[in-house]
Amino acid sequence: MMGGHHAISGTAAWMALAGSASVMGHVTGADLLDLEPAQVLAGAVVATGAALLPDIDHPSATISRSGGGITKALTRAVSSVAGHRGATHTLLAAVAFTALAVLASRLPMTVAVPLLGEVLVAPVLLVTVLCALGTRALKMVEGAVLPWAVGLGAGLLVALLAPEAARWLPAAVAIGVLTHLIGDLLTTDGIPFPTWPLVVKPPTRLANGLWQRSGDIAVPLLGDAGSAREWLLCTVLTGYAGLTTIVTLAATPWPLSP
Ligand SMILES: [Zn+2]
Repeated sequence: MMGGHHAISGTAAWMALAGSASVMGHVTGADLLDLEPAQVLAGAVVATGAALLPDIDHPSATISRSGGGITKALTRAVSSVAGHRGATHTLLAAVAFTALAVLASRLPMTVAVPLLGEVLVAPVLLVTVLCALGTRALKMVEGAVLPWAVGLGAGLLVALLAPEAARWLPAAVAIGVLTHLIGDLLTTDGIPFPTWPLVVKPPTRLANGLWQRSGDIAVPLLGDAGSAREWLLCTVLTGYAGLTTIVTLAATPWPLSP
């Protein structure tokens, strides 16, 4: 799946699971986490960026190009160690990314910001990075500096509106990363065997597109990455993500207060 498509599917999956706003009497999400509208929006930003994280193992992926020299060097390093669609495309990686988010959301390190007061550093940085990656992938902002400026603005806004990040932030990272894995699972290349690093390979005569000789699995309903079916699905997801974001924004109290 392409970078922008991973990003928007992360947004849509988050809104479907955590969204609670309704339009014309119909609830647009499952409201599984019982979050405030501002927390839903903050989580949407995080899930969008987190849905790019597994491709940190691919030097030419969107995430590699998004952060300039830093992400290029990082993706090259991860790629040389893990290979593409290897370790970072596993359930174990989803657990590791989520554990890092749990850690970030609970680190007690704070900094004094004018107008905002004491702000937790780690969640702001995480939102900044993931927002910069997500908005770049969705082509909402271009350039080397602007995505980071927008990201930092989002990070500070989140610190103001949704400072209790311990619940929604790790959940948004988990949903974003898992959505990426599902997106790649739906293409012909597939993802590593679910119990990776314990890989069960099929006997040669049983190997096929669903359970490949390498042990990778796929449910290639979308065909090859970037197919017309993938575009169609992601066009629908973009409409859903846009609509749910607008109704959630409308449900967010204004003027906004901490
Ligand atoms: Zn991928």
